[in-house]
Amino acid sequence: MKIVVLIKQVPDTTEVKLDKKTGNLIREGVDSIVNPDDRQALELALQLKDDCQAMVTAVSMGPPQAVDVLSEALGMGCDAAVLLTDRAFAGADTWATSTTLGKAIEKIGDFDLILCGYQAIDGDTAQTGPQIAEYLGLPQACYVDNIENVEAGKITVTRRNDEGYERLSLTLPALLTVSKITVAPRYPMMGNLIDAGCEDAAIQIWNAVDIGALNSELGMEGSLTQVVKTFSPKTKRAGELLEGDVPEMVSELLGKVRQAHLI
Ligand SMILES: Cc1cc2nc3c(=O)[nH]c(=O)nc-3n(C[C@H](O)[C@H](O)[C@H](O)COP(=O)(O)OP(=O)(O)OC[C@H]3O[C@@H](n4cnc5c(N)ncnc54)[C@H](O)[C@@H]3O)c2cc1C
Repeated sequence: MKIVVLIKQVPDTTEVKLDKKTGNLIREGVDSIVNPDDRQALELALQLKDDCQAMVTAVSMGPPQAVDVLSEALGMGCDAAVLLTDRAFAGADTWATSTTLGKAIEKIGDFDLILCGYQAIDGDTAQTGPQIAEYLGLPQACYVDNIENVEAGKITVTRRNDEGYERLSLTLPALLTVSKITVAPRYPMMGNLIDAGCEDAAIQIWNAVDIGALNSELGMEGSLTQVVKTFSPKTKRAGELLEGDVPEMVSELLGKVRQAHLI
C-alpha cells in the first residue's frame, strides 16, 4: 500500500497576527511546527505502515525552511519526503495550493491513499483536502478519526459529524482528512533519520517545472481569491477586572450579573 501524507509548516500559535500594511501573516519571531492535524494524519499513516508495510511519503509546499517539517516526518518513520518550493508558488490561495499539491501527487503517481489534516491552524479554511480530492477525482471522507479496515481495494473509516459518528467505506484510491485520532502521534527518532539517509538527503525538492505546472495555475496568478482587506475583529466591550478576596469578588460578580438581569 502506498500512502501520501500532506503536511504543512505553521506558526506555533493560534493567535495569528496580521501586518496592517500588507495584510499578510506575521511569521517572524514565531517558531514553526508541523500542523497538529497533520501529525495525526502522519500517525494514522504510520500505523498502517506498522500493520501492513505501507510505504509513506510526506509532501509539503512551502518556503525552503519547510524542510524542517519533512525531517520531522522522516524521523517519525516516513519512507520518503518531497518539498514543493518555488517563488511561483508564493501568494497561493487554497485553489492554487490544491492545484500545486494535486500536480505533485500526480507526479508521484502510484498511490492508494492520501491523508491530510482536517484543518491548518493558520489558514483555517479546511478546503485544501476536499479540493485536492476534487482535482484528482477521488472519493473523500473528512473529519476521520479512525481507520477500521483496509481490504480488497476498500478502506473503512469512522468520521465525526454533527450528530455523532458514522462509518464509511471508500474505494481506493481515496483521500481522507484527519482530526482528533485517539492515539497520540509518535515522536521522531534519530534512528529513523539515519535510516532515511540522514535528514535533507532523503528529501526531494521539486519546483513548478518538476510538477509540470504553468505559472498561470500557481501562486497569486493562479489564485481565484483576492484578499481585499484583512483586519482583526474589534473588541466591543471592555473587560472589567475584579480585585479583592475571592468571596468578595464572587458576591460583587453575582451583584453585577443580577443587575444586568442575566440570572
Ligand atoms: C488570496 C490568498 C493569498 C494567500 N497568500 C498567501 C501567502 O502569500 N503566503 C502564505 O503562506 N499563505 C497565503 N495564503 C494562505 C494559503 O492559501 C493557505 O495557507 C493554503 O491555501 C492552505 O489553506 P489553509 O491554510 O486554510 O489549509 P487547510 O485547507 O485548513 O489545510 C487542510 C490540510 O491540507 C494540507 N495542506 C494545506 N496546506 C498545505 C501545504 N502548504 N503543504 C502541504 N499540505 C498542506 C494539510 O494536510 C492541512 O492540514 C493565501 C490565501 C489567500 C486566500
